[in-house]
Amino acid sequence: MHKSILVRIASPFVLLIIVLFTGLGIYLTVFVKNIYIESLIQHLEVNAKIIADQAKPYLISNFNLQNLEKITTNNSELMAARITIIRPDGIVLTDSEINTYELENHSNRKEIIEVLQQGFGSDIRVSQSINEELLYVALPITNENDDIIAISRISISISTINQKLRIFQISIIGASLLTAVVVIFLAFMITKRTLNPLKKLNYAIIRMEIVDFDFEQNANTKDEIELLSQYLLKITDHLNKQNEELKLERKTLNAVLNQMTDAVLIVDESGTVQLSNPAAERLFNFKREDVSEKSIIEILRNHQLFDLWKTCRIERIQKEITVEINPSKLFVQAIAKPLDEIFSGGVLLVIQDLTRVRQLEKIRSDFVSNVSHELRTPIASIKALSDTLQEGALEDPPAARRFLNRMDVEIDNLTQMVQELLELSKIESGRVPLRKIFISPKVLVDQAIERMQVQAERSGLSLFPDIPDFLPGILVDPDKIGQVFVNLLHNAIKFTPPGGMVKVKAQEISNDIIFSVEDTGIGIDGDSLNRIFERFFKTDRARSSGGTGLGLSITKHIIEAHNGKVWVESNLGNGSKFFFSIPKK
Ligand code: ADP
Repeated sequence: MHKSILVRIASPFVLLIIVLFTGLGIYLTVFVKNIYIESLIQHLEVNAKIIADQAKPYLISNFNLQNLEKITTNNSELMAARITIIRPDGIVLTDSEINTYELENHSNRKEIIEVLQQGFGSDIRVSQSINEELLYVALPITNENDDIIAISRISISISTINQKLRIFQISIIGASLLTAVVVIFLAFMITKRTLNPLKKLNYAIIRMEIVDFDFEQNANTKDEIELLSQYLLKITDHLNKQNEELKLERKTLNAVLNQMTDAVLIVDESGTVQLSNPAAERLFNFKREDVSEKSIIEILRNHQLFDLWKTCRIERIQKEITVEINPSKLFVQAIAKPLDEIFSGGVLLVIQDLTRVRQLEKIRSDFVSNVSHELRTPIASIKALSDTLQEGALEDPPAARRFLNRMDVEIDNLTQMVQELLELSKIESGRVPLRKIFISPKVLVDQAIERMQVQAERSGLSLFPDIPDFLPGILVDPDKIGQVFVNLLHNAIKFTPPGGMVKVKAQEISNDIIFSVEDTGIGIDGDSLNRIFERFFKTDRARSSGGTGLGLSITKHIIEAHNGKVWVESNLGNGSKFFFSIPKK
């Protein structure tokens, strides 16, 4: 406990007690002394009267000093007082204590002056004659004419009263000191009881390790209440700082969670989702506002993921699975990690959408198997032809030439396929830069028709354009769009029996120029329509015909590189209509 608090609490009370007791002591001493002296005066007055009465006869008719001395001496013993008879002019006639010749004239004594003026006199003073504090009472002794013939004075020592009053004062001082001690003790107890909880509080604050050692040292000069108030200020500062840090951390965490492409969920022990990020909302199709009370099973709606969380929660070790979520057909990898250090019983679920990665993997493996499959046929037939030649066909020159021609065709097919594959891979990887210029759609269509006209005529088909008078120019790579037309027209010619027709149209629809290549050919069945733009895809009916199945795939990539779209409308046996759009701006 700090002294100053005790001093602060006790000192006003101690001061009050001292002032109170001193005041009371002084008042009572004066009061008691006055009462005592008053009653003493009355008593002495009676005695002075008796003396006066006894002395009177020896003063008037037969003056007798000896008798007067006797009266004073006898009464002095009787009354235990000093008795003096004084003449009105101040000369002492007789005194019970002192020889009269030793006494000076008493006319200047206060009680003598008073008695001559008022008929009664009294005084308290230290006697010059006997050097003691005395109370004097004087009465006149008068003759028949009421003339003062002498003064009867009686005096008594009041040192006993003073002694008694001193004892009284000492007891008051003693009582006040005792009370002050009691007050100090009570103040000590009260302060101790009041400060003990504060001390505990201060100790608890120090243990919080918010207040550093230096601060504590400096604060040592202060009492507990001041110390507590300073600690509280320090804690407030600390909490404010911590609050700011927390806000910043939360902002950073939110920013990280919001930007993450992986779904993140934090689930408590009871299975309630406590935190989720936008990626999780997108993946599992829920709103974060609804999540506060949502259970994990309601959100995941997948028993394998739910089991993953459950096992991780029970076993408290990291678990991992790869699952397909139905009905969205999403392929995900989920990792569950226990969060014991930061959130007892909590589990962190991180779910990564691998659908795209898987698709790409599938496309790559399909591509490899398709390429090897497509390459196998011409290579096998070249191998068969060369074997036949080696086994003797060389000896038969016409047959040998036929075989060599067929080998030539197969090698041409292989070369075309390799070229198209290279082209496709270049376009897909974005390695082919587009050299865009503003060009009229009509020019593009005319050039394409001019290029394919001979081929169409040879196949017995009529090929013609259908273009309105005015169409706005578009920004395209004319070579690449030319290649698109060649691919589409080539197919149209290839899959349309002689006598048919192929029409190339261009029209402006809202923000796009839409081109179409329409034929009256064999058409495409419904199942094939969805897959027509895949690499190496050929309809069953087109299997026997030449072609690699890469043309439309290349077409699609070129159009998409121009921010356009490509699609087809067709019915089996009723011709096909291929469209592609190019945005005007
Ligand atoms: P290919 O080199 O085999 O023609 P494409 O990618 O250009 O490759 O075409 C893929 C397949 O789409 C063709 O094999 C064919 O089955 C079908 N196809 C394309 N165009 C037409 C069309 N105009 N009419 C009927 N079928 C077509």
